[in-house]
Amino acid sequence: MPAQPRLAAIEAGGTKLIVSVGQDWQTAEQVTIPTTTPSKTLKAVIRFLQAQYQKAPFAAIGVGSFGPIAVNKTEPRFGEILATPKPGWEGFSFVNALAQFNRPIDIETDVNAAALAEAHFGAGQHCDRVVYVTVGTGIGAGLVIDRKISNGFMHPEFGHIPVPHHVDDSSENCICPFHNNCLEGFASGPSIAQRWGATLDELSITHDAYEREAYYLGIMSANLILSLMPHRILIGGGVAQAEGLIDRVRQQTRKQLNGYLQLINSDAAIATIIQRPGLGNNAGIAGAYLMAHNALKSTFSQSPLAGA
Ligand code: ZN
Repeated sequence: MPAQPRLAAIEAGGTKLIVSVGQDWQTAEQVTIPTTTPSKTLKAVIRFLQAQYQKAPFAAIGVGSFGPIAVNKTEPRFGEILATPKPGWEGFSFVNALAQFNRPIDIETDVNAAALAEAHFGAGQHCDRVVYVTVGTGIGAGLVIDRKISNGFMHPEFGHIPVPHHVDDSSENCICPFHNNCLEGFASGPSIAQRWGATLDELSITHDAYEREAYYLGIMSANLILSLMPHRILIGGGVAQAEGLIDRVRQQTRKQLNGYLQLINSDAAIATIIQRPGLGNNAGIAGAYLMAHNALKSTFSQSPLAGA
């Protein structure tokens, strides 16, 4: 069996970047770099990658990044961050920034990367259709079908689906600058902080904040189930770590579905679908390794020597 190739993987989040080089995410050397301006952040990324490359070259690069980002390889803007409120990052291109290494590269959203890893090694193993949702500073979802990331003309932007607001909320509680009634505007970490002056973790499990959050994530899960019929919905991110929240989301999902889907009309069936991620905080970087692997494989398969 040939030796595992050495790979580079990047998970670019809103507050920090993880850069990792090795044969797999468990044994790799990695650094964490705060996400500030593109030039400052990239300088630190390149310094680490160059030092690693000099030690022993890596064969391919996988990047899971905050979005929106151009993820279709056929697009001229592939790898570029699209319109974002993050100062300085709009128009930033991972492809250009990492071009000096001249390696095959794959770029996806951080949630798609996490979904991919969960489908291969985590709580979505042996499932044909896996959705990974992160609920934190923003809300995003990634979809993996038959162990491959599934995008359309771009990656999903599920955080911005319209939702009916909770009876005790109004559109004024929606903090999204684009929408008056979207999921992220009502249920992201900053929205919770603005409404209650605290994070869920800081509040008692009997506080109304839990019921309110579970209401929105129940609507989200019911929408995902009705539109995609996924075998798993894995809910990760900082907000979802609040103890006891997932159980309430399951209850609210059943309430929303209201007995309509007989195949999954039990607490046990809903608990099989809606779960916490199996890889915890490592899903994103593990997914970036898988993407680097895929980038390498597709380069070989496109080579005129392939199969010779
Ligand atoms: Zn929105």
